[in-house]
Amino acid sequence: MADVLVLGGGMVGVATALALQDAGRDVVLVDRRQVGEETSYGNAGAIQTEAVEPYPLPLALSTLLKIAFKRSNDVSYHLNALPSYLRPLWHYFRASLPARHRAISRTYAGLVRRATTDHAPLIAAAGADNLIRRTGIRFVYRSQLALDAAAAEARRLSSDYGVEVVLQSAAALAVDEPHLKPGLAGAVHWPETWSCADPGGLTQAYARLFVSRGGSIVKGDAATLHEAENGWSVTASDGPVSAPEAVIALGPWSAELLKRFGYDIPLLRKRGYHRHFTGGGSLNAPMLLAESATVLSSMQKGLRVLTGAELASLDAPPTPVQLRRSTIAAASVINLGTPVETEAWFGSRPCMPDMLPLAGKAPRHKGLWFHFGHGHQGFTLGPTTARLLVEEMYTGKAPVPDLSPARLRYL
Ligand SMILES: Cc1cc2nc3c(=O)[nH]c(=O)nc-3n(C[C@H](O)[C@H](O)[C@H](O)COP(=O)(O)OP(=O)(O)OC[C@H]3O[C@@H](n4cnc5c(N)ncnc54)[C@H](O)[C@@H]3O)c2cc1C
Repeated sequence: MADVLVLGGGMVGVATALALQDAGRDVVLVDRRQVGEETSYGNAGAIQTEAVEPYPLPLALSTLLKIAFKRSNDVSYHLNALPSYLRPLWHYFRASLPARHRAISRTYAGLVRRATTDHAPLIAAAGADNLIRRTGIRFVYRSQLALDAAAAEARRLSSDYGVEVVLQSAAALAVDEPHLKPGLAGAVHWPETWSCADPGGLTQAYARLFVSRGGSIVKGDAATLHEAENGWSVTASDGPVSAPEAVIALGPWSAELLKRFGYDIPLLRKRGYHRHFTGGGSLNAPMLLAESATVLSSMQKGLRVLTGAELASLDAPPTPVQLRRSTIAAASVINLGTPVETEAWFGSRPCMPDMLPLAGKAPRHKGLWFHFGHGHQGFTLGPTTARLLVEEMYTGKAPVPDLSPARLRYL
């Protein structure tokens, strides 16, 4: 029998498996697909040490009205999904009030600032350096007014959290990114951020490292999880696998599974879309076109165009309106070439209303651990929160910062 079952083979689950292994535990990783094929595949691949303040719910009436009338490309929604979002949105609203958001940001900054340090040994041991660029990320603006406002905000973040920032004129931007079309005002460049040319590939490289160190990966459905005589058991393709402890790392699917165990977790799933384009220009670093809520990142498959958030049920059919707008915005700054896929990819950011991931003990079940809810930065934070979780599992001390589910009194 293994020591621990890790359910879910995205960046968070794989990093958890590696951290447990590092602590001397015998681990079985369970996924219903190949590892790294879901959200950890479809993201922008940025290891975002600049993302010190998590996205709050917009509170300005003008922004909320734009969202309500679907005039914003940052956020959209499916009307029929809204009733299920009311509770998470209410908690998200409370956590987004300025004083609370400042306190949350201090915690969040402490996590993201160590992300590249926590990824570095895994990248090296997995032999995955060829996937990594250490060229930062750029927030790019067309209007001088928007660039000036962003520059002021960037100076604040830099001074509050010690993040390195470089403000770039249009000319400096054109030197660093020669494939961009003219007409941009300039950029805010965050040089410390890293990025990955194949996020699913990096997750899979970490999984191969886990296997090479003696771990095993099995195909199985986490929905079969049940309490067994000596802990926890799931049915895998080759029969049952059991262990005294189990970690739920199912990303956006975590809350569904935990309903069965009596936990009503207000997970906010913010869907995003992407599509690749080839034969056009490429970028040396990922880029946020801030005025159109569009992210561009050069990947092995081509230039990936990604969108902001859509509030939709997990299994609702795709409505890639934001992607259509983002594609138009992307084509105005770079020659896109032709689309690689006929259909857009979509997946959901698993966000907790207080914007902090969950990493800790299940409040009412022995040997059960939660590790999900990394929102917009799960690819960044997987290895960092995995280390904190494993520290708590084997020292018994709640780590600093406190990411434990017990902080959510409404659970
Ligand atoms: C458009 C977009 C852009 C993003 N950009 C970035 C970025 O640049 N940087 C960043 O840090 N983050 C980014 N994110 C967020 C990031 O992708 C997620 O936070 C992260 O991938 C979550 O990882 P995870 O391991 O928790 O979930 P996942 O990667 O989704 O893994 C969950 C796993 O659970 C498995 N699973 C689900 N149900 C079952 C079941 N019943 N049985 C067995 N297995 C099951 C799935 O197959 C999957 O492998 C972005 C997200 C989106 C959508």
